[in-house]
Amino acid sequence: MKSRWCSREAERLVRAYARRGVDRDLALRVYTTRLLGRDPRLVLHGGGNTSVKTTMRDSLGRRVDVLCVKGSGWDMGDIEPRGLPALRIAALLELRHLDSLSDGEMVNLQRGCLLDSTSPNPSVETLLHAFLPYKYVDHTHSTAVLAVTDQPDGDALCREVFGGRVALVPYVMPGFALAREAAEIHEANPGVEGLILLKHGIFTFGDTARDAYERMIDLVSLAEARLRRGRRERFRPSRLPPRIARASEVGPIVRGLLAEPLDDAGGEWRRAILDFRTNGRIRTYVDGEDVGRYSQVGVVTPDHAIRTKNWPLVLPAPLAGDLSAFKREAGERIARYVRRYRAYFARHNGEREPVKVELDPYPRVVLVPGLGLFGAGGSASDAGIVADIAENTIEVVTDAEAIGRYRPIREADMFDVEYWSLEQAKLGKGMEPPLARQVVLVTGGGSGIGAATAREFAEQGAAVAVLDRNRSAAEAVAGAVAGSAIGIVCDVTERRSVRRAFDRVCRTFGGLDIVVSNAGAAWRGRIGDVPDRVLRQSFDLNFFAHQTVAQNAVRVMTAQGTGGVLLFNASKQAVNPGRNFGPYGLPKAATLSLARQYALEYGEQGIRSNAVNADRVRTRIYKGDLLEERAAARGLTVEQYLGSGNLLKREVKVEDVAKAFVDLALSPKTTAAVLTVDGGNIEAALR
Ligand code: ZN
Repeated sequence: MKSRWCSREAERLVRAYARRGVDRDLALRVYTTRLLGRDPRLVLHGGGNTSVKTTMRDSLGRRVDVLCVKGSGWDMGDIEPRGLPALRIAALLELRHLDSLSDGEMVNLQRGCLLDSTSPNPSVETLLHAFLPYKYVDHTHSTAVLAVTDQPDGDALCREVFGGRVALVPYVMPGFALAREAAEIHEANPGVEGLILLKHGIFTFGDTARDAYERMIDLVSLAEARLRRGRRERFRPSRLPPRIARASEVGPIVRGLLAEPLDDAGGEWRRAILDFRTNGRIRTYVDGEDVGRYSQVGVVTPDHAIRTKNWPLVLPAPLAGDLSAFKREAGERIARYVRRYRAYFARHNGEREPVKVELDPYPRVVLVPGLGLFGAGGSASDAGIVADIAENTIEVVTDAEAIGRYRPIREADMFDVEYWSLEQAKLGKGMEPPLARQVVLVTGGGSGIGAATAREFAEQGAAVAVLDRNRSAAEAVAGAVAGSAIGIVCDVTERRSVRRAFDRVCRTFGGLDIVVSNAGAAWRGRIGDVPDRVLRQSFDLNFFAHQTVAQNAVRVMTAQGTGGVLLFNASKQAVNPGRNFGPYGLPKAATLSLARQYALEYGEQGIRSNAVNADRVRTRIYKGDLLEERAAARGLTVEQYLGSGNLLKREVKVEDVAKAFVDLALSPKTTAAVLTVDGGNIEAALR
């Protein structure tokens, strides 16, 4: 590992922060914290922490000695000075003499030391930073260091690798006890450049930001060099079926199995979003004959237990062409996983006070031999973090097994971290938005009603796939919505294009729950002389495309087995034909029937099917002269026509239609319904 310290860059940042009133010490702390945080071999997603001891003015203008330490919720890779809250160090140092300190009291005392009460909570490793007598202290969960220390003889191996340059701290859970232990061990070994926290990570320190940072790089490089020596043969591959099913087919099955039923009738689910990963290293690991052993030993560093749980679920290899056996076996394995997790909870919770609240027993990481791995989370970004950690775990375990045998902390220690009081205190706080954990696909999503619908679903927490004939329009809408979204080019009148788009959604998010079949366009002509060609074109887009989209939707929803929602954009033409609008109205009438047919035939699977009947919305369909013509026929301007032609005398906007789709998605007992969004048009009222 190379040092990425660059004096010119460092000075540039110092000058830039000086203009904003941030002093040199803190600016350099920000600089090297980012250098560490941007290397996934050192730090992942909020892991690790750093500090600097300096002076600052309090609100009375007095200079006080402070410790600026990483605050929780900040990521080292893009930290700002605000992410390193300042604490009065004198008060922190007094805590050194306590016999014990609970985590709750520790957090409270630390908050009491803050110069600015609006700061985030300082790291749980704050006291460890405070007790070490160096200006700069850096802490990472280096992949290479973990591979060396997560061994049955990890301490001996560390002595061999690092010699006298570090002192070793036996595993203790983060908190006051670890801080005191580390300080004592450091005092007994003055002159070391760092501490190896066995089965946890590494601390380095120095009097300058550069020293502390470069000692980290040096020591990690020693671990890397050791991992290159005397490597054994990698994992022996298991026998796999000749042809393996694709991730887009396996994803929905896995996603369905990970969904937790919220009622006995199985109508409501707490779902997960998946993130699929594969590459040579992942395949070597998941295809290994012994994957059932080395994948089940536990997390590489205690921090990860909260994200990934202690063990991944290992599934059988999925045979292409027949997934029924895979689905059955996967179902049994997940049931076994749930039983194992509950037993683990019962075993460690025992009689201990305070009694903990059991977390959901479902896995976060799923390994599929022949294919790769799935990370699961409450959102696409959570699933991505889980998948990143899983990849990192694979790297550590692969390296650990290449030079010895992987052996992390004990199960009881993992339990203590997973059920840590500070984590338990967060349970039940932070409500999820109503469509969190759901995936929605919108056709014709690049503009008008489709784009507004994609935005509205994203606002409600759903992961969104925006399909459009126009790639850049789809990508632009996806790029601008809140939360996770992908834009996919798709011609809904081409079966292969639709299948490809659905496959991509399943590969990206693991499946889908809500499909808004919205793409459409208006053709006109007097019905007695309209050419067949025009009528067939309109039927292709305004009827058959809806059918293709719905067929793909129920295929995926059936694989998941957790219900779903079909939503069709019908039209007022479907119930109230307009003169010369036969080519548009006829297929739309068929599509309205289609919505009901799906409601009828898929209701027992929990799949609901509804339509929205919108009218006079300023969209691509009704733009240009068409709208002007219709307005002129009534002696109105376009604005008057749009705004005053309905009972409420208010213009119907694309956002109004989008809200109707969301309302239907959120109505669990509504199916085969048509929701009218037209400001009131009595001729088109359904009867
Ligand atoms: Zn740590």
